[in-house]
Amino acid sequence: MKHTLIFATSNHNKVKEIRGLLPSNFDVKSLADIGFDEDIPETSPTIHENAIQKAKYLFERLHLPCFAEDTGLEVKALNGEPGIYSARYAGADRNPEKNMEKLLSKLKGTNDRSARFKTVIAYIDDQGSVSTFEGIVTGTIISEKRGKMGFGYDPIFIPDGFDQSFAQMTLAQKANISHRSRALKKFLAQIAPSNQ
Ligand code: IMP
Repeated sequence: MKHTLIFATSNHNKVKEIRGLLPSNFDVKSLADIGFDEDIPETSPTIHENAIQKAKYLFERLHLPCFAEDTGLEVKALNGEPGIYSARYAGADRNPEKNMEKLLSKLKGTNDRSARFKTVIAYIDDQGSVSTFEGIVTGTIISEKRGKMGFGYDPIFIPDGFDQSFAQMTLAQKANISHRSRALKKFLAQIAPSNQ
């Protein structure tokens, strides 16, 4: 039997990533695939609540199984900043270069450069019941950008146990250890346990 899941995103790369992990009897559709063009609000105070807010917004309109994800970078010396503001840390234009510059300048002279990426996936099944799955990767913010791959804060984040930044890793290397894939694997274990 085919299971259709709606993913509350328009980000094609994220859809591709999850399609690659799910067994073939799962059909993941993005907002673009179903012609849903409303802006889904993301106004909650935490990553966890934002993921739930997005999934609920969609479920209330479609009444179909759906999921949403929210991700943020949390820097210890900045009390968890940028957190839910990761995408627009330096302004509404969501410019990754400016975001990294702002973060690096705030961390100038700081000894504790530990940080973590956190992803939360919120899933709502056909009965309306909500589950969440968290993926975390801890690491260090370096003082200069390294590497050209990836996106967002990847050039300044080195995951613990490695000596390359996320932007120096191939997609496959990053996917092996990333916050997003850790959350996805937990999600997968619930919705498709026979695939584990
Ligand atoms: P979103 O929830 O995926 O939109 O992520 C919010 C912001 O966090 C993004 O705009 C990026 O700045 C940052 N971010 C999320 N995931 C990653 C990642 O894997 N590497 C680097 N930055 C990321």
